[in-house]
Amino acid sequence: MKFRTTAIVNAIGSSSVDLNALITRSWKKHRELGVRGYCSPLLDCDYSMKTCLPVNRQSPNIINSSLSNHQGIVPFGILQHGGIAYHRKRLAAVQRRCALRVACAYRTVSHEAVMVVAGAIPIHLLAKERKEVYQKKGQPGTRSTKKEESREETLGRWQEEWDAAQKWQWTKRLIPRLGPWLGRSLGEVDFFLTQLLTGHGAFRAYLHKMGRARSPMCLHCSDARDDACHTFFVCERWAGWRHAVEDELGGLQPETLDQKMIESDRNWKRVASFARAVLSEKRMELASQGPAAHEGTSSSEE
Ligand SMILES: [Zn+2]
Repeated sequence: MKFRTTAIVNAIGSSSVDLNALITRSWKKHRELGVRGYCSPLLDCDYSMKTCLPVNRQSPNIINSSLSNHQGIVPFGILQHGGIAYHRKRLAAVQRRCALRVACAYRTVSHEAVMVVAGAIPIHLLAKERKEVYQKKGQPGTRSTKKEESREETLGRWQEEWDAAQKWQWTKRLIPRLGPWLGRSLGEVDFFLTQLLTGHGAFRAYLHKMGRARSPMCLHCSDARDDACHTFFVCERWAGWRHAVEDELGGLQPETLDQKMIESDRNWKRVASFARAVLSEKRMELASQGPAAHEGTSSSEE
């Protein structure tokens, strides 16, 4: 299966990658951003966390994906070498922070959902995969074949966990099958697209749940819940923009949106621009409604 060629996937998905070279390149990038301290895969996890995590505080979430990917390299590299048996929870926390940056996601997005949106394989599955590849040493077959087999098994396990999850239903509804989503060769998520995919963003239902809006109701049609589904697929307020997209791509449904997006670069960009236009307008509208709604849309970008 062909995987996205983003730096983050390469960094975590290939044992043949020169990790030190990756980290050195990434460090140079971080130094340009004014980050101090050196992160080595040989350092212990606690020190790595102390030095790496502030890196991600240097920039807001609204940054381009290529920079996000660079930001993900150092901590993911450390995850491969930082003592998984002793620090599993803390490693998962580091990985989650990296994925939040890659996806430009709100901090309230769950670990499981953001890993899928960012396309980053959870560390516990990666650890198991590496162990299996190691155990296959001496068996017939080339190393690359064994790695491909192990990766397929890893994806199968991840899909099982994703299917069994009772939460994150909206993201599951949009991305039910992980294989095509992870294996796509185009498209990067951004701040607005991630809001569509997670439901965490400029939606009154979400803001109300966070204590940032007085009501979850839609401001335009008085629907009981202004969430991502209502905004992008139902609400008449955004029907004009929705129909413009549908004229180009065909009918929009949550269950088929991911397939439509990964069909072509044009489709992906069209959906991304739809999300950006709608949510930019919504943010302005929410801001005009008063400090409660506005507070929620601004503070969560950090
Ligand atoms: Zn509405």
